[in-house]
Amino acid sequence: MSEFDYDLFVIGAGSGGVRAARIAATHGAKVGIAEEFRYGGTCVIRGCVPKKLYVYASKFSGEFEDAEGFGWTVGERSFDWKKLVAAKNKEITRLEGIYRRNLDNTGVELHDSRAIVTGKNSVKLLSTGQEISAKYILIAVGGAPRMDDDVPGSEYAISSNEAFDLEELPQKIVIVGGGFIALEFAGIFNGLGVETTVVYRGDEILRGFDDDLRASLTEEVRKKGINLILEDNIKSIEKLADDSLIAMTDNGKKLAADQVMYAIGRSPHTKDLGLEAVGVETDKQGAIKVAADSMSTVPSIYAVGDVTNRANLTPVAIREGHAFADTVFGNKPWAVDHSLIATAVFSQPELGTVGLTQSEALKQSPNLDIFKTTFRPMKNTLAGNDEKMLMKIIVDADTDKVLGVHLMGPDAGELSQVLGITLQMGATKADFDRTIAVHPTAAEELVTMREPSERIRA
Ligand code: NDP
Repeated sequence: MSEFDYDLFVIGAGSGGVRAARIAATHGAKVGIAEEFRYGGTCVIRGCVPKKLYVYASKFSGEFEDAEGFGWTVGERSFDWKKLVAAKNKEITRLEGIYRRNLDNTGVELHDSRAIVTGKNSVKLLSTGQEISAKYILIAVGGAPRMDDDVPGSEYAISSNEAFDLEELPQKIVIVGGGFIALEFAGIFNGLGVETTVVYRGDEILRGFDDDLRASLTEEVRKKGINLILEDNIKSIEKLADDSLIAMTDNGKKLAADQVMYAIGRSPHTKDLGLEAVGVETDKQGAIKVAADSMSTVPSIYAVGDVTNRANLTPVAIREGHAFADTVFGNKPWAVDHSLIATAVFSQPELGTVGLTQSEALKQSPNLDIFKTTFRPMKNTLAGNDEKMLMKIIVDADTDKVLGVHLMGPDAGELSQVLGITLQMGATKADFDRTIAVHPTAAEELVTMREPSERIRA
């Protein structure tokens, strides 16, 4: 008989926590999991999944217009926001059911409660006050949208959490931020016919991405009619008698809107979790400090996913949870390599990126060959759609190794997954060149660019 109630107790049933719980259970561990909200976590309930569904919904407006170029006459169109929200909710509930069932099927015991850490080997369920002991505790509580409380009137603003379930589709929205969420939601609302303004404090959106992608997306987003205001920020938000809002900017702009949405990053959800008292250290942002194997500063307590603020992406949390369970319960130690992570931004147009940006590549390799092409995807020709696709390959001129590939355009996210494999294998430009094109596709450009558009030499 073990001296503990569980071998593993997981706090948070999102992507990382669920994967860790299931894998640990399949290794024979007795596992309990607690979730205060809904099973599936941010990604399934109010993140990646509903976001992607809304992206699909919002793209139809453009598709209807494109269809006319191909001979279709598209009749009267109308959009019902409530119908979309209801359909989304139905799908999310279905997925949540699958998450619960999968845990259940592997023998994991589910606790629908907020749980906090009360000791190196104990947690407390706040719904019942029950104390539970566990040999290991895994914290996988994720993050929460950050708001700017210093802005007067910020209490009138929403975050992505609320944006999914608004009672009414706004006529006008102001989105604050220039990152993943701001750009993705700008595309969604704009596509659904909402007058959309994005206010970003920097001089170019998507800091950290390749500069060519940033500039190209800026151009396309503006062509679509999104009002992108750069180098400015919201100073105050005022609510009028009719419940509409006025957002004032530092540069004196007065933006009328039905909703103001903050998308200025997410913070680890570690507040009031009992961590400090047991010696689990967090950093300035509140993220749990962990070693490569996800162990916190208390050896019986581990943490995975956004709460550790390593790479805040669902597949990374899943990997970290899996590695933890294999290492601690499966006698198969391994650690996640965070160095090469393919990513997509579901902006419109979409971005896909893997490997180093040009400025990052320059820091490690003085001699680079840059292969870049911008073109109108075939479908856009008859459609009369001016949207461009960008493809950029960054090659180390000394070793011929492909260091980064950056895409903007249809299916860029899908392509980045496959390109991730090639870069993971250490592909060279010669490997790309040897590959016979698939015709007619946009992706064939990746293997047909022969001459560098730029040669950078030390
Ligand atoms: P990001 O970190 O991507 O972007 C935050 C944005 O807000 C940046 O433009 C930042 O500007 C700006 N900002 C930060 N603080 C302030 C402030 N006080 N006032 C005004 N602007 C501010 O965060 P998101 O919220 O967009 O997304 C959170 C995370 O979720 C992402 O980092 C990503 O890891 C994940 N995610 C991934 C998705 C995907 O894979 N497709 C989709 C959605 C989210 P600056 O650049 O100047 O710092």
